[in-house]
Amino acid sequence: MPSIALQFLRSRIGKVCVAIIGNTPAEMLEKASAVIKETPFLEFRLDYLEKPLLAMPKLKQFIADNGAVTCIATCRRAANGGKFKGALAAQLEVLTKAAEVGFHIVDLELESAESLKKGDLQKLRETGVGIIISHHDFNATKDLDGIYKRIQPMEPDFIKIVPTAKTLTDNVTLMRFIERMDDHSNIVGVCMGDAGIISRVLGLRAGSAFTFAAATAGEETAPGQIAARTLIETYRIDQVDAATKVYGVAGNPIKSSLSPVMMNTAFRRETVNAVYLALQATKIADLLKLVNEIPIQGLSVTMPLKQEIMAHLEKTDPLSAKIGACNTVLRAQDGKLYGFNTDVAGIIGPLEKRISLRGAKVLVLGAGGAARAAVFGLRDKGAEVFILNRTPETAQKLAKQSGAKVIKKEALAKTPMDVIINATPIGMTGIKGAQLLEAKDLNTKLVFDLVYNPIETPLIRMARQQNIPIITGIEMFVQQGARQFEIWTGKPAPEEEMLKVVIHTLRQQAESAAAEAPPTPPATKSKKAS
Ligand code: NAP
Repeated sequence: MPSIALQFLRSRIGKVCVAIIGNTPAEMLEKASAVIKETPFLEFRLDYLEKPLLAMPKLKQFIADNGAVTCIATCRRAANGGKFKGALAAQLEVLTKAAEVGFHIVDLELESAESLKKGDLQKLRETGVGIIISHHDFNATKDLDGIYKRIQPMEPDFIKIVPTAKTLTDNVTLMRFIERMDDHSNIVGVCMGDAGIISRVLGLRAGSAFTFAAATAGEETAPGQIAARTLIETYRIDQVDAATKVYGVAGNPIKSSLSPVMMNTAFRRETVNAVYLALQATKIADLLKLVNEIPIQGLSVTMPLKQEIMAHLEKTDPLSAKIGACNTVLRAQDGKLYGFNTDVAGIIGPLEKRISLRGAKVLVLGAGGAARAAVFGLRDKGAEVFILNRTPETAQKLAKQSGAKVIKKEALAKTPMDVIINATPIGMTGIKGAQLLEAKDLNTKLVFDLVYNPIETPLIRMARQQNIPIITGIEMFVQQGARQFEIWTGKPAPEEEMLKVVIHTLRQQAESAAAEAPPTPPATKSKKAS
């Protein structure tokens, strides 16, 4: 039975604790003051300060001025993954002082706690402060029960266990462990790492007393940590309950996918009790195990799993079977997994809004997954399709399978097209490679670039300069996502809202990339060869 003091402590803490870092006390307090407007539960990472003891008067004032805010003091030692270089005694002095100036909770790592002299922990407890004993494993998720057994006899107010997820199913291991605990209301558990997002969003539902978030993107104090606003607004973490259906986008790499922000926006807009996660999947077996254990109700499947997933589905729609790739998985009423391909609708839908495809002449650049969706979808609609690809053999194979033709670059200028579609990554942020077409090759009435980051690709710009109507990759991205939403929920997708949030996020990303880019040096006159 928890003590009255502990019950009070538990009742005043929120579900999301925001980690505050800074090089100076002033910097920390400025951030803290901004964060508490939205989240009144903070962890001050005192180990980020050169001299944490000197910060105490200012921290005392902050706590006194903000009575509704709950504050944790952490001064993790370097040997345990923190930044504090002092000895154990110095760490204990910082935490004791923190307790004296009004911190509600102090966090002491297990390794330090085990090295304390007899009675030291009791003395800290007697200050009246709540105590977290924490353990971080930066390499793996293993022996959680063993760690628990080491911490539990110390009778802290909270037992914090933070392993690293190397696989998706490591999240399941952690969450099952939390669920299994007798009094799990004093366990705080989360997996670090890119694969650990599942535990960051679903950990509360498993019974974690609270979870941690970064103040903003870029201020993460642990690998894979998510910004508080994203956790609260995008993932709606405080509304995730036992009935919340879980969906996700699976692929590798997946960190920068815009699907979570788009799909979670759609779920919120349509008040669907569902959450959508980025699933960093390197092995199909790991993904499938997660899908069955959570269980996951639907997947967006992306590179490199679109083909591989097919063998693991009960059945796919005829289009996926023809293309040999599936980007959408649905768990149906019978509990089995079924596959669909919405990439085709993402390409055909925007085109049909503008032109009639029957008999239209369409050039497809590329012969990979997206190109296959375009070519089969277009052929299905009766278009005459020409393929141009870096590797001619792949183009030939696709042409043979689909009844399309291959074309050489030299023939483009004299072959008028109705549409040119770019289904290669050329033009995408971070991808190097020469433009595939020159201005003279845009012998077409419409240009569709499937690349959506940046919004305006070089190909789109070139088409605009020639007054050729364009379709950007964002339209495909939103359309394929909207069809997935409909397959999963049976409701019409809020396409406008989805489009808005994708454009907003891409613009924000472009702005922060521009702000981070080094200033361009002033132009210098080129030296003439001597
Ligand atoms: P993929 O299967 O890897 O195929 C890539 C294709 O591009 C291949 O045909 C490849 O030619 C060609 N290619 C790659 N690098 C090239 C280069 N430097 N120069 C010339 N050709 C090159 O990829 P995918 O899944 O089809 O995706 C292609 C692009 O479509 C993605 O990068 C993405 O931007 C876009 N896309 C957008 C959406 C959306 O929702 N808007 C959805 C899916 C894809 P080889 O055969 O010679 O390797």
